[in-house]
Amino acid sequence: MKLDVNMLRYLSKEDFRVLTAVEMGMRNHEIVPCELVERIASLKHGGTYKVLKNLLKHKLLHHDSSKYDGFRLTYLGYDFLAIKTLVNRGVFASVGRQIGVGKESDIFEVATEDGTVMAMKLHRLGRVSFRAVKSKRDYLKHRSSFSWLYLSRLAALKEFAFMKALEEHGFPVPNAVDCNRHCVIMSLVQGYPFVQVKQLQNPEVVFETIIGLVVRLAEHGLIHCDFNEFNIMIDDDERVTMIDFPQMVSVSHHNAQMYFDRDVECVFKFFRKRFNMSFQECTDDIDGTEVDTDASGRPCFSSIAKDAVFLDKELAASGFTKKDQEVVEKVLYCREAW
Ligand code: ADP
Ligand code: MG
Repeated sequence: MKLDVNMLRYLSKEDFRVLTAVEMGMRNHEIVPCELVERIASLKHGGTYKVLKNLLKHKLLHHDSSKYDGFRLTYLGYDFLAIKTLVNRGVFASVGRQIGVGKESDIFEVATEDGTVMAMKLHRLGRVSFRAVKSKRDYLKHRSSFSWLYLSRLAALKEFAFMKALEEHGFPVPNAVDCNRHCVIMSLVQGYPFVQVKQLQNPEVVFETIIGLVVRLAEHGLIHCDFNEFNIMIDDDERVTMIDFPQMVSVSHHNAQMYFDRDVECVFKFFRKRFNMSFQECTDDIDGTEVDTDASGRPCFSSIAKDAVFLDKELAASGFTKKDQEVVEKVLYCREAW
């Protein structure tokens, strides 16, 4: 998606007031009636309709007249609100090039006034799975309106909370800087996605580090659930950073064993194919600690998870609750059920 942030400069106070009014209206309406926008925005000198037209022209809003005349935010509109808030907070001053396109996210560089470059991840839930999300609608019937705004915001908050908690426990993850709406700001990882790496100096060491991460996560009560060569970054010194956390689950999840084994299998498979590795005795000593493994050298979930120490308190500190986790698990990331 194109994100022309220059436009931010040309939007007036009134534009943002009306954009925010639509966002507020969307708490209770999928499409916000024009009169409601006007009432919430209550512009001093009127003119809400003209502003709406301008926002529509810039694709920050979508117009819908199927049931009644109304508007909803587009992703672009939501992007602008998040970016403006974070810029006002002094988190960054400018948006640069796009550095990643995920299935359900866009990643851009952002920079502070003094030139520090960070990464901005904009969550885009519903981009590939809107139908599936819609079918889960019943779960959220207590909300009169169910929208991707809410889901993307939840995914971002979850990612931020997990990144921060993992960082506090010494995991190699980006530094979680801030979060607003569907947008997470984190440090920029130096290096490349592991999938792009064709050769390693020390494949055994990197392998043990990476499998060690899956094990250590489980010891902290967590499973990454998408732990593969796309979500592992590696630098020139073969140091590893893991990214992409919105789908993580607890080791007490009813499918935990399956998710854990799948993460482990991804790593084994990649190293076998890409670096021609075989594993018989590799993993019973991971990162200096002994780990129960099966006959094929794969770490054994049940023996690791039984003594897990959970990170609930750290997660709650970022405002991510157990209830939020329940919603995310039930609605967003039940991929095997899709
Ligand atoms: P998705 O959930 O859509 O897969 P990711 O978090 O995996 O999104 O990010 C997609 C891509 O963006 C990554 O594969 C990586 O190339 C890049 N990326 C994400 N976060 C960072 C970061 N902090 N620093 C550098 N590159 C990043
Ligand atoms: Mg990813």
